[in-house]
Amino acid sequence: MELDKMDENDWKYHGEGNKSLVVSHVQFSRVLRLLKYPAEDSENPPQTAEQAFRQIQNIVDFSSNVMSSLLGEKFIHSGEVVKLPLEFVRQLSIKVQHQRPAWRCDKVMDIYSGCALCLPNLTSPALHQPTHTPPLCIEIKPKCGFLPSSKHVSKDIKTKVCRFCMHQHYKVANGKWKRRSLYCPLDLFSGNRQRMHFAIRHLIEEPQNNFKIFKGGQCIYSSKEGSDDSLDLNSLLHHLRPYFMYGNNRINSHMTGKAVLNDFIQVLVNALLSGGGGDGGVVMDRQGEGRSFCEASHFNRERIRHGSQGLPSDSVLFRILQTQMLDTLDIEGLHPLYRRVEQHLQDFPKERTRLQIDGPYNEAFLEKLQKCPTEDDGSVEYAVAKVHQYRVAMTAKDCSIMVALVPSTEEEEDDEGLPSQRRHRDFLSSRPPAFSYSVSILDLDPKPFDSIPRQLRLDQRIVSCYLRTGGSLP
Ligand code: ATP
Ligand code: MG
Ligand code: ZN
Ligand code: MG
Repeated sequence: MELDKMDENDWKYHGEGNKSLVVSHVQFSRVLRLLKYPAEDSENPPQTAEQAFRQIQNIVDFSSNVMSSLLGEKFIHSGEVVKLPLEFVRQLSIKVQHQRPAWRCDKVMDIYSGCALCLPNLTSPALHQPTHTPPLCIEIKPKCGFLPSSKHVSKDIKTKVCRFCMHQHYKVANGKWKRRSLYCPLDLFSGNRQRMHFAIRHLIEEPQNNFKIFKGGQCIYSSKEGSDDSLDLNSLLHHLRPYFMYGNNRINSHMTGKAVLNDFIQVLVNALLSGGGGDGGVVMDRQGEGRSFCEASHFNRERIRHGSQGLPSDSVLFRILQTQMLDTLDIEGLHPLYRRVEQHLQDFPKERTRLQIDGPYNEAFLEKLQKCPTEDDGSVEYAVAKVHQYRVAMTAKDCSIMVALVPSTEEEEDDEGLPSQRRHRDFLSSRPPAFSYSVSILDLDPKPFDSIPRQLRLDQRIVSCYLRTGGSLP
């Protein structure tokens, strides 16, 4: 990619979140992630080009020096900051505008700084030699997978119903979504295959912004917020069916939609429980499951047929959960420590740099949060370490997992070089099709220090809304 010869025709709209817009290259496996800001400020960018560059460099540093060491390097692609020609960015923003969902247009793409984050395109991986069947990529934004056990939690309900499930009531009450999702993160993070299956089924039913499917780099399934047309499950099945035809099904193309979906979910569960590619000595987190059951989950506990082994310690879910659990005090216990730091910074503004409040996100930052004393000694250092831990946990509660599934070719399936007749029989065998998978984590931006008071207010609003309306909504 030659930065001085950028052509907007080589790039197309790929997707966006709350903070950034992503375009993908039409030929190479690359994406550009550009910042967004509120449309009110469109004439008047909230930061200079240098500040935008710094912000993106901070994202790269945070991802590569902090999150990658906590989550496991094998899952992380931090990318690099690039400086793009302004004319290219302007043309690009015009080109993608009409493809953006209306409900995301309260923000505009940054066309002033020329800065972007360049990343590998995780939805069109070059895993193996190109096969005839394009890879399927599944993006899951799992959210927080545990119940707080901090003594600072003031409302009992928070120790029984998970944050995601409570937040769903709040979002429906405030018109953000029309229907509640019955996905519960505690089921996904349980390590119990039945509960995980149940969780993914509900992600498919009501994806909101927690679930997307890409085929050959194109998004083929996601929520259509704002529009009323119910999600096209039939169109999804149409896409998935060819990947899951085997044995007799392949001959008479007789496989129910339910069976296709079950196979698909099972492959996804396998990928989420795997070590993300390489295998090593796997330790199971056996206490895991008992620790977390959300009272709002619709999963019927009596249905559990097999006890859970918990999450394998090298699985992506385990690593994300461990990082989320660095939030040990809950926002209610953390907020007073935030105030301690804030007070200290008012008295000694220059300390902001030494305490690395806004970065740099380097090894020293990681060390500050890892070497935190277990007891509060009243120091500002303790408070800063807890705030850093909390911010890292927030990032882990907000990241996405990308699972890329590449169907194994028949040659790969029997690699002993057997005669073609045998190969043919295997081709029609009754065993489910094999996939090779790779698992990545994306969206690892640092959460700003001053977002903490907002977190406390939001927590209070969600809990009081749930206590008012909880369980009574359809
Ligand atoms: P959020 O609102 O979740 O915080 P965000 O604004 O921080 O989102 P991202 O989640 O990083 O933005 O990116 C938006 C979307 O773009 C993702 O949900 C994903 O579908 C797509 N995307 C981001 N990075 C990549 C990548 N490296 N490869 C492929 N697709 C990507
Ligand atoms: Mg995101
Ligand atoms: Zn829940
Ligand atoms: Mg994000």
